[in-house]
Amino acid sequence: MESKNFKYPDTKAYNFVVAELKKRNVDLHALSKIAYHLQKQFLPQLNEQECYEELNSVLHKRELLNNVMVGLELDRLAEENKLKEPLLSIIRNDAGVFGVDESLALQIADIYGTIGVTNFGYLDRVKYGIIKQFDEDPNHVNTFIDDLLGAIVAATCAKVAHKYA
Ligand code: MG
Repeated sequence: MESKNFKYPDTKAYNFVVAELKKRNVDLHALSKIAYHLQKQFLPQLNEQECYEELNSVLHKRELLNNVMVGLELDRLAEENKLKEPLLSIIRNDAGVFGVDESLALQIADIYGTIGVTNFGYLDRVKYGIIKQFDEDPNHVNTFIDDLLGAIVAATCAKVAHKYA
């Protein structure tokens, strides 16, 4: 049951996510650049720094942090063979019928409504830059991270779009 004395560790969650992304060679500037490229066609006044700031702002949201922490940890546990079968093999093989990775990520994109969801769907299909690298890396378990990065970028796109709406 929920403990009434528990205070949600916002700063620890944020620091954990940023540190884990760094460990997996995710450059936050590279992510915000994808958001910039996706949104600048609609918002000519947009600049890259602004996208980076909005990315940082979405990275502080509890709903995003929760899902990213769960996904990154499941990738790590699968990579270290610490999950039980059959879940271990399902995640290690990035089974197409699994879908929990997409669901977890989609929930992040959905925080910002339709613009987030549409951009997530687009990124899931085209897999830009660093997202593509994770999707095509055969040496590590990246079942969750590619979708999570797509969702972080999609959320950033939506946040930027709402700012100018
Ligand atoms: Mg995936």
